[in-house]
Amino acid sequence: MASRVVLLAVLPAMLLAQGTRVEMPKNKYAVEDDVKLGREAAAQAQQQLPLLRDEDIESYVNQVGQQLVAALPPEFRHPQFRYTFRVVNAGEINAFALPGGPMFVNRGMIEAARTEGEMAGVMGHEITHVALRHATAQATETQKFQIGSVLGQIAGAVIGGGLGDIIGMGSQIGFGAGALKYSRKYETQADILGSQLMARVGYDPRDLANMFQTIQKQGGRGGPEWLSSHPDPGKRYERIEQEAKLLRVSSSSRTRDTAAFRRIQQRLRAMPAPPKGRQPGQDQRAPSDEPTYSGRVEPPSSSYRQVQTNRVQVGVPDNWREFRGESSVTYVPEGAYGDRGLTHGVLFGAEQMNSSNLRQANQQYLESLLQGNPYLRQQTDSQGTRIGGRSGLATRLAGRSPVTGRTELVTVLTSSLGNGELFYLASIVPEQESRNYDPVFQRIVNSLRFVR
Ligand SMILES: [Zn+2]
Repeated sequence: MASRVVLLAVLPAMLLAQGTRVEMPKNKYAVEDDVKLGREAAAQAQQQLPLLRDEDIESYVNQVGQQLVAALPPEFRHPQFRYTFRVVNAGEINAFALPGGPMFVNRGMIEAARTEGEMAGVMGHEITHVALRHATAQATETQKFQIGSVLGQIAGAVIGGGLGDIIGMGSQIGFGAGALKYSRKYETQADILGSQLMARVGYDPRDLANMFQTIQKQGGRGGPEWLSSHPDPGKRYERIEQEAKLLRVSSSSRTRDTAAFRRIQQRLRAMPAPPKGRQPGQDQRAPSDEPTYSGRVEPPSSSYRQVQTNRVQVGVPDNWREFRGESSVTYVPEGAYGDRGLTHGVLFGAEQMNSSNLRQANQQYLESLLQGNPYLRQQTDSQGTRIGGRSGLATRLAGRSPVTGRTELVTVLTSSLGNGELFYLASIVPEQESRNYDPVFQRIVNSLRFVR
């Protein structure tokens, strides 16, 4: 008889917690890939971001986060995932979660939230992206490359803003990190499952909808970064409202606004303002009619330095900055990079392709490049050339750069490294400046030697 009593008591709670059924998207990556990607990106994030190391605030945010994680249905739990919550000392309204669980919440997001429920809404939404493995699921859909090439893309896309500079850059031109944001399908899933997590913990899911409005109001002209990486799938507010009804959260149920939340907000507001300047996580995305790049690009130094990767040795202008990605490395002059990639510079790397045939592998690489950078068009056929003493192919692409609004020339050189591995080197420059940069690119290419 006792078990029957328990059942009766449990049943209504289960019904309460149900709502719309969410399906795990198709994913060709292993759960461990999510963990690896997230761990590497988080290590960089922790180096680059001004973390707010305040035990009180962190433990509070962590507590709210862990409650939401504990509400995940069993089918979306991965024992390999570890959900962690760090607070970033940046005023912009932003938060991001990396594959496998590391989450970073900007101080500005906590300060902007009107209630604990609103803050928890953003966190529940982000936790859902992690649990449903949306980053690698999206990569499964949009590109067919190895995990190595995806790191920058995912990290850049998930992080956005300033940190995207650092992590997303290496592959930005290669695989279009800037263009990647969560698809509408995944946004809907994150809103729905996020609502369910909230209801289970005892929040009103409508606080998630409210938070989107709070963010929008404070976003200013360009709209904050967070909204651009989590686009409205359409009727977002209505959809969350509808889900709240399924979850039988009555419209009179109190919005959860705890004393702890008020105290944490007061503590934050009493702290010195976040450091100014180019903060990672900051929204640097100006409206499209305003160039975000200064246009003052430092001219290439006439002295070169030798750099080496595990594939090549090459000379680059001494004053060009290096960004190393997982499978590529980029060299850019100061003033020529930002959250949407580079405007001048070179990048090179190696990529495992489906074919060992140079022409086929080259074609495959160009296709993903064009797919990732839809503003580019192929201008010439691929023509035979020499690179590092080997035979290769050269192709010219061009298009109106979304960053500068000017015509951009991209020259892609490829050569086969054997075993289906393709070496590529791409140079990027605005057409108007190509006369000044062509000799620089030529010198770089001439200096290139393969090391094995
Ligand atoms: Zn989202």
